[in-house]
Amino acid sequence: MPPTSRSTPFAAFATTAEAVGATRSKIAKRDLLAAYLRDLPDGDLVIAATFLAGRPLAGSDEKLGLGWVQQGAALAAASGADEGSMRAAYLRHSDFGDAAAELLAGHEPDRPLTVADVGEAFRAIAGAPSSEARVTLMTDLFRAATAVEARYIGRVAARETRIGLREGLLEEGIAAAFGAELAAVRRAHMLVADPGETALLAKRGALEEAHLRIGRPIRFMLATPVADAAEVMRRVGGEAWIEDKYDGIRAQVHRTPDGEVRLFSRDLNDISRSFPEVVAAGRAALGRPTVLDGELVPWREGSVLDFASLQTRLGRVDPSAELLDQVPVALVAFDLLHHDGRDLLESPLRERRAALEALDLPERSGERFLLARLATAADDAAVERAFDDARERHNEGLMVKDPASVYQPGRRGLGWLKLKKALATLDCVVVGVEWGHGKRKGVLSDYTFAVRASDEPGAELLTIGKAYTGLTDAEIATMTEHFKGITLRDFGRYRTVVPEVVVEIAFDRLMRSARHRSGYAMRFPRIVRIRDDKTPAEIDTMAGVDALFAAQATGRILLATGAGGETERIVAIGEAGDATIGDA
Ligand code: AMP
Repeated sequence: MPPTSRSTPFAAFATTAEAVGATRSKIAKRDLLAAYLRDLPDGDLVIAATFLAGRPLAGSDEKLGLGWVQQGAALAAASGADEGSMRAAYLRHSDFGDAAAELLAGHEPDRPLTVADVGEAFRAIAGAPSSEARVTLMTDLFRAATAVEARYIGRVAARETRIGLREGLLEEGIAAAFGAELAAVRRAHMLVADPGETALLAKRGALEEAHLRIGRPIRFMLATPVADAAEVMRRVGGEAWIEDKYDGIRAQVHRTPDGEVRLFSRDLNDISRSFPEVVAAGRAALGRPTVLDGELVPWREGSVLDFASLQTRLGRVDPSAELLDQVPVALVAFDLLHHDGRDLLESPLRERRAALEALDLPERSGERFLLARLATAADDAAVERAFDDARERHNEGLMVKDPASVYQPGRRGLGWLKLKKALATLDCVVVGVEWGHGKRKGVLSDYTFAVRASDEPGAELLTIGKAYTGLTDAEIATMTEHFKGITLRDFGRYRTVVPEVVVEIAFDRLMRSARHRSGYAMRFPRIVRIRDDKTPAEIDTMAGVDALFAAQATGRILLATGAGGETERIVAIGEAGDATIGDA
């Protein structure tokens, strides 16, 4: 690797990260970060702040294109370990960084690595033309690192620093480093959606210049689940502002100043090429620079199609004319974040919605852009009715929003509540897979899955259930190959796998059980769908499971009956009694 001038040693980054990880004190973490960031040259500051946020690429939230398999191959090649020892090392730590540090122990590279070297290497990896090329570049990077540096190279590449550093704390570190107001740092970070740029603005005393970058996705605002109409009214107080909850995939639409239209998924990937009809309609309908938030749904002749049909469009780049015709997709818009030079995130929803309506999208897009249906409800009964109506329209349930709320990227606040369909589900990560029987012989069709102990970074995974897949044969075949590649330990019938596949699980009820590490088991669990849009960091936690169990005991949640996979409503019963499952 050629030397890069005027960049600081990556060893100092690694040492700081080690120290931050070693203390539990938030103040100590903040001060360590501030001391490190304060003295960095601008270029390094941008890269280091990006890495500390668990992102490998400054200025973008793109992925490196290095999956577990490629990272493992690079580590094995760099350390000379064979594949078995590499997997065993991973298994000992459940962490790539620690596995890298172990396998490269005592490794002395020829010359010190700089922060810029690592930044450039990640950039080269992201831009490499093939998977092999990415592995070669990652191998070189590991070879150029000491053991402790390799720990953070492995972790940043895997997008998790594991040093107990939440984004809020990084913002505090940036504020402390440059004597800036914390609120100003947070606001700038929200708008530019980039930790490196935020740090640089703070250093330059220019935080108020921050604004949304059109063409670069920002994180999506999230919703808090509520159990029922009564809870909605309790939380809202007065009149509730309700929208239909559409069952599709979340999308952010950017119309740039030069007239380009790009779509981004919930995990901030550019999905424009999968939905050319929506992009084309956006070009026609959006005359000025705009950022919209909405849901992509399969849509024909004024109504939504089943979610399963949308699945045939997901991940398909440049779909055929035939597929476009079979499953037409529309964008149901529900928020406006920027229009014609004005950032709207800090305006109340009431104003954002009015501005969105003023765009006349349905008309201008030939009904390819629609508006989320909006209504108000003054009491429980009205919410119930709205819920049933939404279900009639094949939508999933309701979103309840505070019209005075601002748009909070990446936050699950009380500004948005969600009341889901007659089905409580949990998002879990697959930790083990098993060969099937009978018709499912020769494929890995039984999945064991887990929830997170807490929402702390790096929290433990606790198993909660096991299910045969509800997936199609084609999906099972694809997943079988995938799981073979990410197998950690092969016990013959059963194998443990790298926890990276997120599944949404429906079940009849939760039971206390010593069978699984979570202390719960599910009755009749079924896989509803693979959640490609969620990362293992976003799965449900024990707090959510406990709450669901408590709500179930009072009959306040809706669960599946299990029979025939149909979902029906649970009949609510007495105070602390057991819920009975009734076919409504
Ligand atoms: P969940 O995926 O269960 O966490 O529910 C939140 C998701 O509902 C959002 O991320 C959106 O993808 C989707 N959604 C559907 N309709 C709406 C709406 N009207 N407002 C906000 N989100 C919606």
